Amino acid sequence: MDAILVTGGAGFIGVNLCLRLLGEGHKVVCVDNLFSSSINNIKHLINHSNFIFFQEDILNFNKNIVVDGIYNLACPASPKQYQKDPIYTLKTNIYGANNVLQLAQRLNIPILQASTSEVYGDPLEHPQVEEYKGNVNCIGVRSCYDEGKRAAETLCMDYRRMYGTNTKIVRIFNTYGPFMSEDDGRVVSNFIVKALKNEPLEIYGDGKQTRSFCYVDDLVEGLIRAANQEFDSGPINLGNDQEYTMLELANKIINITNSRSNIEFKPLPQDDPKKRKPCIQKAKQLLGWKPKVGLNDGLQKTIEYFKNL
Ligand code: NAD
Ligand code: UDP
Repeated sequence: MDAILVTGGAGFIGVNLCLRLLGEGHKVVCVDNLFSSSINNIKHLINHSNFIFFQEDILNFNKNIVVDGIYNLACPASPKQYQKDPIYTLKTNIYGANNVLQLAQRLNIPILQASTSEVYGDPLEHPQVEEYKGNVNCIGVRSCYDEGKRAAETLCMDYRRMYGTNTKIVRIFNTYGPFMSEDDGRVVSNFIVKALKNEPLEIYGDGKQTRSFCYVDDLVEGLIRAANQEFDSGPINLGNDQEYTMLELANKIINITNSRSNIEFKPLPQDDPKKRKPCIQKAKQLLGWKPKVGLNDGLQKTIEYFKNL
């Protein structure tokens, strides 16, 4: 039985990953300071004999733990959360990632870094291939996250080059599913919560901007494959390549929930990417991975989760 450290393990993707790892018989050490999540997310895991939780900040984490592998997920991920304290977001991405990388280097264990499609910024190439270097504003309201994640990728590559640390980078595209927080402002949770209450869904801008939504079970499968399989050191995109406008998403959610909600238009936030869709050829070839859950099915499961909250 391997012991796995999951930083950010109480967050949306983290809980889904911890559940999967526990199900496979691993011991899971979860480090999370609950900055952008709630203890409710892991209350069903606290008494699990293979689950250990440290409520700590990765900026200060210095427990003398011994584990066999690391997933570094700790970082607020929704624009609302990462813009709450942008300097803290940048520090988490750089100093926090550096702390966790030091642990991987000292224990000589693999580490998987959760990077993001945001490293491509407001992309001028479509779909986004891993070789695309991006179009990122370094002084805008999203920069703390985008530039922080870019710097964390740099750190991963430099630990690999300087110390031979087994670092892996996955660039996660918009993911949704159970354990999303109701109020962290992401589009899927916002729309579902409003639709279930028959309140207006708010579309920022004209709603023609696109995103490509990956169901969390597919994403977790990709994370596990990336962590366990050997591939060259470069980043791999993980996401679903079915692309939708926000208007299409809103209408889909209104239909599936049989909601009486209408749609209201609000101003578009600064630097909001106009389009986003991953090229997932590399993940298909190197990991034998592709998403299996379509948007309708994934939304049904997510809506059920929110109904039962
Ligand atoms: P989330 O906000 O739900 O979870 C992040 C977790 O990290 C939270 O539990 C939070 O409390 C914890 N955290 C934040 N800063 C911390 C710190 N300094 N020390 C300890 N814990 C800290 O977000 P998520 O959607 O689960 O995202 C997980 C990871 O995946 C993040 O690194 C995010 O950047 C990346 N990612 C997510 C998406 C997505 O669509 N969900 C897309 C791209 C990348
Ligand atoms: N968005 C929206 N209404 C909402 C929340 C978000 O129209 O209630 C838009 C947002 O402006 C963006 C897209 O939906 O264009 C995805 O937003 P999210 O914050 O989920 O992800 P990100 O922008 O980080 O991809």
